[in-house]
Amino acid sequence: MKFDTVLMVDWSGGNDRGPTPKKDSIFAGVARNGIAQEPVYLRNRQVAEGWITEFLRTEQAAGRKVLAGFDFAFGYPMGFGEVLTGSDDPFAVWDWFEAKIEDSPKSNNRFDVAGEINALFPGVGPFWGNALKRDVKRLPRKGSTREGHGLPEKRAAEEAAKGAFPVWQLSGAGAVGSQTIMGLPVLSRLRKTCGASVWPFEPLTADVALVEVWPSLIGKVVAATQPDDRVRDAHQVYTLARAVSAMPPDELETLLDVPATPEGSILGLGHEKLLMKAAVAPVQAPPLRNDCFALPPGVTWTPVPKALAHLRDNLSPVTGSETVPLHDGAGRILSQDVTALRAHPPAPNSAVDGYGFAGPAEAGEHVMTLLEGRSAAGHPYDGTVPAGHALRVLTGAVLPQGVDTVVLQEDVNVTDKCIAFRGPIRLGANARKAGEDMAADQVILRAGRLLTPADLATAAAAGVGELPVRTRLRVGILSTGDELLAPGSKATEGQIFDANRPMLCAIAAAWGYKVVDLGRAPDDRGQLRGILDRASASCDVIISSGGASAGDEDHMSSLLKNAGSLAMWRVAMKPGRPLAMGLWGKTPVLGLPGNPVAAMICALIFARPALQVLAGGTWSEPEGYMGRATFRKSKKAGRREYLRARISNGRVAIFPSEGSGRVSGLSWATGLVELDDSAREIRPGDSVRFVPFGSFGL
Ligand code: AMP
Ligand code: MG
Repeated sequence: MKFDTVLMVDWSGGNDRGPTPKKDSIFAGVARNGIAQEPVYLRNRQVAEGWITEFLRTEQAAGRKVLAGFDFAFGYPMGFGEVLTGSDDPFAVWDWFEAKIEDSPKSNNRFDVAGEINALFPGVGPFWGNALKRDVKRLPRKGSTREGHGLPEKRAAEEAAKGAFPVWQLSGAGAVGSQTIMGLPVLSRLRKTCGASVWPFEPLTADVALVEVWPSLIGKVVAATQPDDRVRDAHQVYTLARAVSAMPPDELETLLDVPATPEGSILGLGHEKLLMKAAVAPVQAPPLRNDCFALPPGVTWTPVPKALAHLRDNLSPVTGSETVPLHDGAGRILSQDVTALRAHPPAPNSAVDGYGFAGPAEAGEHVMTLLEGRSAAGHPYDGTVPAGHALRVLTGAVLPQGVDTVVLQEDVNVTDKCIAFRGPIRLGANARKAGEDMAADQVILRAGRLLTPADLATAAAAGVGELPVRTRLRVGILSTGDELLAPGSKATEGQIFDANRPMLCAIAAAWGYKVVDLGRAPDDRGQLRGILDRASASCDVIISSGGASAGDEDHMSSLLKNAGSLAMWRVAMKPGRPLAMGLWGKTPVLGLPGNPVAAMICALIFARPALQVLAGGTWSEPEGYMGRATFRKSKKAGRREYLRARISNGRVAIFPSEGSGRVSGLSWATGLVELDDSAREIRPGDSVRFVPFGSFGL
């Protein structure tokens, strides 16, 4: 079972805990693809319910499937429901609590409700523990004074979970009874408002699954990785969310496969090893530093190679990892080295159709006894071929014992019993050695590699059926400007069509990323801020175009500046006005120029390698080729220039206009001419460097 998002909630039975994060309050941990976000502090149950409801709705609207875990019992020991509601339906118990419980940040009626429930049972109990000064009718203060209520002390789950507290205890260190009573009404409402499925009572068919969890199952990892600046409860949900979201779907399926008793269960019980494995070995990308785009101060114009080196050295992967079937691997980035599971070829075999024997065969005539039978691909010969004998072998057939050399069938005369041919034939001729291509356990493909169709063949040949890959980088594409209109719509003279977004979306898709079309932002700071807030939740990186300079309407750069992370790059390059880069929260934003020609060229030169690194790939620079120019050009020193170009009759031609407003020149071109920083007088026939769009992955 696959969930896009895992939410883990550390619940609390207590009252409001104030504005700053404290222990024993409510925390929510969110993780996707094995990467967890900083947990959210929720000061009381009312705030928590609002936040969780909103969160689940947002996820549903985005089409994401959520597993939402809560650390309190979803059910009571066998027999409880019948007495309370007259049925063993666990949801009847939820409804009962939803109707009875009154809750506010400062007080609630849980002890009175527990006393009321005890009144339904014979003897004393089952609930006990009272944190109030006043006595509560029929609710004993001590567990030891209970007797004769007739219910088991623990659910089967608590019996199995070492150290788990019984649900009857409502107060005292470690007690979970109160948070269960105070949690079930909230779950009951969430179940209805979000249409959630509840584990293990019903099949998880809805896009939200509510699941009981107990972070102590991975307590060792939590303790060992606890950072100083994170409350323990927060770190528990952080670690558990990350672990569950990092689990392979089939392992999670194993955890979820429990009987649907009215008691419920705890996710991972009996499979602690799987849970621990996922908790210990997550792919957790380190957050980017706030100054990751900041070029050294005092530099006015940065040469392109310096700017690129800066991206290479300061960015790091932000993607998680997952396993995909080999078939789906092309275009993905390997998250780990892949090793050959067996040698290729696995056994010596024949490279041709012919006759196998023990070589070599000296110069001169050879007559050999032909054995009955043959070795064909997929049908090996299981006998031994004695010296001086030969066996019919076909291409790809395993060479049997006694055969190391093959003579081509075209060079042989055959009778029923014998073959005759002329030597010399060297030892090993026409035979492939075991492992000559790949040895078992040899690394065949390196982490960071963008998998090609050929790589699938290589991995398949070495017996690999699944590939560890990075999760797809989610790239948000945003256009900015009041003048922009959707292509094809009715426009006034002052309006222009949004040319960048379709182009940049297609480029990001061609690079193998998950494209998130963020639409168009007007030249309005407030609206742009809202768009960036929402986008940073659904994207790993945002690429915008327009509004990136320092003008009145350049809101992208002002917002990044106010966020304290703007880096304005003045790169010594034409085309390309300043590039605005920064972090919006933790999400990198690359602000490209608005002009489509500059936007595309800056995307190819800067966004491509930057995204490669963020996606977990290896840094690479585009391959260029020298060719003879058809054109004349006088170039100034001090900046790099890119000209729209194509190969025509084996020579490098450029688009007749260098005007950066001429979008059609991008379609005319099949690549770029790259001229370095020096001054140059180019004449027809001179050698220039041409970089085809293919070298940029298009
Ligand atoms: P700006 O950087 O916002 O000042 O934009 C520079 C130029 O590019 C202006 O002429 C804009 O109208 C134009 N422009 C900006 N965004 C786009 C776009 N998405 N499609 C086409 N032209 C654009
Ligand atoms: Mg603009």
